[in-house]
Amino acid sequence: MAYGRQGPRIKEKAHALVEGIDLPGHWNRMFETRVITDYDPGTLDEITALPGGESLDWCYQCGKCVGVCPVDIVGDYGPRKIHRDVLRGRSLLDDPNLWLCTTCSNCLRVCPKEVDMIQIMPAAREAAINAGKDIPVELRKVFEATDRYGNPLGENPRKRADWAKEAGVPVPIMAQLKRPVDVLWYVGSYPSFHPRGMDAARALARIFHALGVDFAILGVEEREDGDSIRLAGEKGLFEKLAEANIKAFATYSFNRLVVFGPHEYNAFKNEYPKCGGRYQVLHYTQFLVEHLVRLSALMTRTVERQVTYHDPCYLTRHNGEYEAPRALLRAIPGVTLVEMPRSRENGYCCGGGGGGMWLDGFSRDYTSMRLSDRRVIEAAETGARTLGICCPYEVSRFEDAVKATGNEGRLDVRDIAELIDQAMGGPSR
Ligand code: SF4
Ligand code: SF4
Repeated sequence: MAYGRQGPRIKEKAHALVEGIDLPGHWNRMFETRVITDYDPGTLDEITALPGGESLDWCYQCGKCVGVCPVDIVGDYGPRKIHRDVLRGRSLLDDPNLWLCTTCSNCLRVCPKEVDMIQIMPAAREAAINAGKDIPVELRKVFEATDRYGNPLGENPRKRADWAKEAGVPVPIMAQLKRPVDVLWYVGSYPSFHPRGMDAARALARIFHALGVDFAILGVEEREDGDSIRLAGEKGLFEKLAEANIKAFATYSFNRLVVFGPHEYNAFKNEYPKCGGRYQVLHYTQFLVEHLVRLSALMTRTVERQVTYHDPCYLTRHNGEYEAPRALLRAIPGVTLVEMPRSRENGYCCGGGGGGMWLDGFSRDYTSMRLSDRRVIEAAETGARTLGICCPYEVSRFEDAVKATGNEGRLDVRDIAELIDQAMGGPSR
């Protein structure tokens, strides 16, 4: 591609001598094409040379991505801006903007040129890490904790199955069960260790038990799935985690893998096969919706409330599941589902994807509010009493946001599993 100055530029206010006639000032423009490609292509080449970074070059600045980028709604962002900054000689590897994209995929949905930030950002982040660039401190800590303890919270890995002690029902562990099961439930790090994640895990255990599902968990053999670690740029650590999980899965016999989180779903469905791990994987809402008739018969209590539902990016845009969570919510006696204006394909990201889960402190300097705060304001504006979720990242993000936006007492955050469990007679909050 030919970049660079194509001939001597006549300055705007300069005089030009044309066939002996002196032409002053602005007339000069009529005799020379203005040069607009006078820049160094090095910073663009730096990204497009990376495997996955190629599509940044395809942007033609149409601006369609700007209106749908959740970060732009609370700041000044989007692929168009990234492309323009890189064209102007700003290295993305040194730019704080490198860490703000949540890989929510809303830009890719509308981009006519298929500029793919879901490939570009992890590739550029990996390059920045490998080049020893400054990376946000909190992200470095998460990488270290995950490498050391097998979970991003830095919790003791031996306590990974402790949540199950208070589930009120047996939660079998594969190593103790010593037989094949129908469902291997991959619980995930946040439901295993975060207090509110544990509430949802216990609720799902009770639902499985009531349905008579033949299931078990890995317990201490389970590791973080690593998908958000990969998207945040630590591909090597992701591969290490994948190898450990694939090895643990291979020890046991099961028909289907059921996961709690959309990020785990994406990992096992789309990324682990590249590492040799192939499974029939279902998000828990997809699994439960298969049992909807029996589940409906078990839900004998009324949960009288309006619920608005937040579409998780990695269940919806990334993997096309919009209906299963809604079908479950509609089946809960007393629940009325009200939609937020930004929902389904245009759902607004909670800010937790692509490493954003750990970057709220860093992002504060570049955005006017957290994405989770913005989303909770939208949820409260529907008049709903409950924000229904089915991603373990969201409970902590949204409960913080409910407090930060002054909606405490007006809006609560409940996993769909918790609402179903309540309708089945489990504890209410
Ligand atoms: S929608 Fe695509 S082509 Fe248009 S400005 Fe955004 S990234 Fe560039
Ligand atoms: S993936 Fe999402 S957060 Fe990232 S640039 Fe695209 S729309 Fe914005």
